[in-house]
Amino acid sequence: MSGSSNNNDGSATVYLGHVIDPVDEGNYRDIPDGALVVSKTGKIEAVGKWSDLCKQYSTGCEIVDCGRKLIMPGLIDMHIHLPQVTQIGKSGDTLLGWLEKYIFPAEARFKDLSHAEKIAAWFFDELACNGTTLAVIFTTIHKEATDAAFRIAAQKGARAIMGKVMMDKNAPGDLIENTQNSLNESEELANKWHGHDGGRLLYAFTPRFAVTATDELLDQCGKLWQNNPGTYMHTHLSESAEEVKKVAAMFPQSRSYLDVYDRAGLVGSRSVFAHSIYLDEEDLQVMHKKNCALAHCPSSNFFLKSGIFPIDRVKRAGVEFGLASDVAGGPQMSMFGVMKDANFIQPQIWISPRELFYRATRGSARALKLEDQLGSLEAGKEADFIIVDPTLKNACPKDILEHETDEILSTIVFIGDDRMIDSTYIRGRQVFKRQDVNGKATKPQEETELHKVRGGKK
Ligand SMILES: [Zn+2]
Repeated sequence: MSGSSNNNDGSATVYLGHVIDPVDEGNYRDIPDGALVVSKTGKIEAVGKWSDLCKQYSTGCEIVDCGRKLIMPGLIDMHIHLPQVTQIGKSGDTLLGWLEKYIFPAEARFKDLSHAEKIAAWFFDELACNGTTLAVIFTTIHKEATDAAFRIAAQKGARAIMGKVMMDKNAPGDLIENTQNSLNESEELANKWHGHDGGRLLYAFTPRFAVTATDELLDQCGKLWQNNPGTYMHTHLSESAEEVKKVAAMFPQSRSYLDVYDRAGLVGSRSVFAHSIYLDEEDLQVMHKKNCALAHCPSSNFFLKSGIFPIDRVKRAGVEFGLASDVAGGPQMSMFGVMKDANFIQPQIWISPRELFYRATRGSARALKLEDQLGSLEAGKEADFIIVDPTLKNACPKDILEHETDEILSTIVFIGDDRMIDSTYIRGRQVFKRQDVNGKATKPQEETELHKVRGGKK
């Protein structure tokens, strides 16, 4: 049991259920008669056996009995594209061709603010119903659309690290920015939103990737990032062989793809590199030394046939990494599906369910330098958690919660998806609740409208 010394003042809410919580990639706390005590400010006040905590918290507190369900930390998606939620499931090409065919046209539509607002509302509802309580997000090049995305995230209670895409070459005309405007607008958005609501929203400077950036943009972005301490830098790195070849031809003076970013001052603590498949030992050493984070996107790597993340070499080098959906490069938002794919994509290596769940929770928080606030259920951390009912999914044994920790984790990792999520809480606020006992999710109001949007694209 871990509990603060604060006396119960009657303002907390106690959630009763089966607590499973990662301590590290191999160790878990598994408390079948568990209790999670959440303060009115959305912080975790105590976690432990209800039999130990009930004396202190049974009087005056609101008690929410979740029944035979799991209480787990919220899922973290380390790399995802907001505008691409409309393009999920569209494939049939390699990275660069797919960008041209589906992604750039979808992103160009974000010039229209009302379209951008609708999609952003849909996107944050989708995250919530998938149990994702923090996402690291690319928007588009559009300042107003990005501002709207922050505004909607703020209203809905979402937690995000997000930034406007920066792109000043090698894209369709309507997606190419003036370099200075791109920098200015990014800085304005960072000034406005970074640290909003006690750090629930954070800013990431977001150059798309080396292919769509001039030297000037990368260099100036590096300076801007360094001048805004606490912000993030989020980009793609070494996703496909074709892309790596292209970057080598474009930047002959750089030793490697990572070196392009390093020379621009974009590699450091709070830089997040999505994919990072084709890395040599020197790259890994630089990443370890500079304490940056990798976002491993297995479902996307499967879907676009990009390659296999060198998980054993990354771990040996001591580089911090977590998992990411990379929607719509990945065809699903569910981090359970992403965990499963992280195992499946490795032809030789078995990754345990313990490690997979850790990588989508505490491991990601750690890589993002947020482990002191997020990623697990401990007193003093933010109350970002999910209530999971594995039995909502067909094929799950009804007595699954009587099984060993490994079997419970294995079940949710290998057969889990959004249908297992009963409810999602961010900083103690409920952002999703499943209402239909037959397993149908609550449909966000905006969705009817949005289906029209999606239909119109056919
Ligand atoms: Zn991506």
